[in-house]
Amino acid sequence: MRSILITPAIVLRSWAFGESDKIVSFLTATYGKVTGIAKGAKRSRRRFVNTLEPFSLVQLSFRDRPHSTLAFIHACDLIRPHKNLTTSLEKIACASYLTEITDAFASERQESRSLFDHLREGLIWVEHRVPSHSFLARYELQLLRLAGYQPGWESCRRCRKARVEDAPGHWLFSARDGGLLCAGCSALRKEAIPLSSEAIDVLVLVQRANTVLDDRQSFPSAALIEGRSVLRHFIQFQTSRELKSASFLDASSLT
Ligand SMILES: [Zn+2]
Repeated sequence: MRSILITPAIVLRSWAFGESDKIVSFLTATYGKVTGIAKGAKRSRRRFVNTLEPFSLVQLSFRDRPHSTLAFIHACDLIRPHKNLTTSLEKIACASYLTEITDAFASERQESRSLFDHLREGLIWVEHRVPSHSFLARYELQLLRLAGYQPGWESCRRCRKARVEDAPGHWLFSARDGGLLCAGCSALRKEAIPLSSEAIDVLVLVQRANTVLDDRQSFPSAALIEGRSVLRHFIQFQTSRELKSASFLDASSLT
């Protein structure tokens, strides 16, 4: 029999499988994303008492099964239930969104401790604070950096012209180029999105924050919302995913 592996993990999502089992997807501290089968989890709650709920931080014990991509979930012990995450629609929407976009960048069995730590920090923040666009922009930009897609804001990605050398208000964001294009170069990219200089300035400042916990600066909300719409578009482009929780988040009243 294969050996049992043990690691801290965050539950990303779970769904019913057959009469009595559940399939559960985790982001682990040591083994990247792990998806496994929890036998009897649907019928008997004794073995997995409240530990397979989304956002829970658990100590996961699992082993690989021969000829299957699904691991066997041996045990799941609760470290942190994140109960406060379900006390308001804003918190649920925000936690679901963080989980979904982090999941989108994580790969099965590819170690990504930094993504695990980022999601853990983000969920703790949402648990204790009022969710805001400013926090989400920090989370999104740091996630993009950790995944290797930090956007460039200082110069045109094609001709390298610096933004300070050009008239403000003539810059566009191109997901395909991973950053800004000047007006001339954007003629080649019909799908590039115009971005106001206020929004770019806000994104530059937010990107300088070293941690999602750095909440010292406040920003004009119109520029922040405009900047975030580009970040979301970029995340969808890089992960080739429609973000289901994004519309739920839009419906909540974030400040
Ligand atoms: Zn250019």
